[in-house]
Amino acid sequence: MIDIQKIKNQFPILNETVNGKPLVYLDNAATSQKPISVLETLQNYYTSINANVHRGIHTLSQLATEEMELARKKVQHFIHAKNDYEIIFTKGTTEGLNLLAYSFTSQIKAGDEIIISYLEHHSNIVPWQLLCQRTGAILKVIPMDGNGILQLDFLERNLSEKTKIVSVNQISNALGVINPVEEIVRKTRAMSDAKIIIDGAQSAPHFRIDVQQMDCDFFVFSGHKMYAPMGTGILYGKEEALNSLTPFHGGGEMIATCSFSETTYAGLPFKFEAGTPNVGGNIALGAAIDFMESIGNEVFVSHEHQLLEYAQEKLSGIDGLHIYAERAPRAGAISFNLEGIGIASDVGMILDKLGIAVRTGHHCTQPIMDFYSIAGTVRASFAIYNTFEEIDILSEGLKKAKRMLS
Ligand SMILES: *Cc1c(COP(=O)(O)O)cnc(C)c1O
Repeated sequence: MIDIQKIKNQFPILNETVNGKPLVYLDNAATSQKPISVLETLQNYYTSINANVHRGIHTLSQLATEEMELARKKVQHFIHAKNDYEIIFTKGTTEGLNLLAYSFTSQIKAGDEIIISYLEHHSNIVPWQLLCQRTGAILKVIPMDGNGILQLDFLERNLSEKTKIVSVNQISNALGVINPVEEIVRKTRAMSDAKIIIDGAQSAPHFRIDVQQMDCDFFVFSGHKMYAPMGTGILYGKEEALNSLTPFHGGGEMIATCSFSETTYAGLPFKFEAGTPNVGGNIALGAAIDFMESIGNEVFVSHEHQLLEYAQEKLSGIDGLHIYAERAPRAGAISFNLEGIGIASDVGMILDKLGIAVRTGHHCTQPIMDFYSIAGTVRASFAIYNTFEEIDILSEGLKKAKRMLS
């Protein structure tokens, strides 16, 4: 048995009270809390290392560079990338996806096709719409059924030599649905030369990630959803896939030579890291990975799976509570509404009074809400420090909300 309380004690914020009640933090799909080791790494960086990287010969600059490059190696091992220079530091999933959509521009022409899915976050929709506007490419969407399961026969009918990009998430942030990315990769490879992008914002915090086994070309995720500071994120790309792209941002750090007549670019990863990076944050992302690895991925998967099962059992026992994507394989989150109560935020407000933090609304996935003809849902999402007692508190809170609102 793992001692969840011991893990929980490493998170100072989880001892706080909210509205006079102990905090029950169930909004981890929006951002996770940070353990002391991550907070101390960040503070230690600013109190005793702070210097710009790759630029100075002086001791602190070298130390900052070494620490950040060590964090890059930790990320490499965390997702099992082949080379450390395939790891690009970004400020989050959104930046990673926008970087890709922009950098692909010169390879895409009118009539080319880009495939995403119905379950995407706005940040895996809008950058592709913008790319289509720039180039005349066409955006196609893998449909889903009422259970939130993607209809992959769509791929057989739509993949062709025209398909240039397939970009899907591994776990839906709105519903917690696990998408069969291995099957999507296999089908895509069999029928096209498309580059495959996986949005791992919701899977990296929960699953063991092996980008080589997955055989995707790119994998993007956010540090802040996996115990690291805000403003951190990763874009992984296979070496040849990254090399085929033009840079997103131009500036310092990303050049080999620069004159007014010609500029040549630095090699990977620096070609995609213009300007001063979030050095302290990136180093603290390394500490977040250390934290996760000190517990072990099997423990994460099993504890978070048990939390979800328990929440499913408790919440489905509440009369009139409707859970979305109930029959789909899910991880990390449960999304629901109380029947007859039109506004999810009313439920969220009552829960907040009880110290319970959940997310309500469209979760940056308006197409999914349109699919179900709803404005939003209530979403409870889990991390390693959540307990079964907290789900009991949520369940009681929902019963109270139901009494008050109906
Ligand atoms: C959170 C999230 C994003 C956006 O991540 P940011 O950290 O806000 O840039 C994209 N996709 C999914 C699936 C997400 O959960």
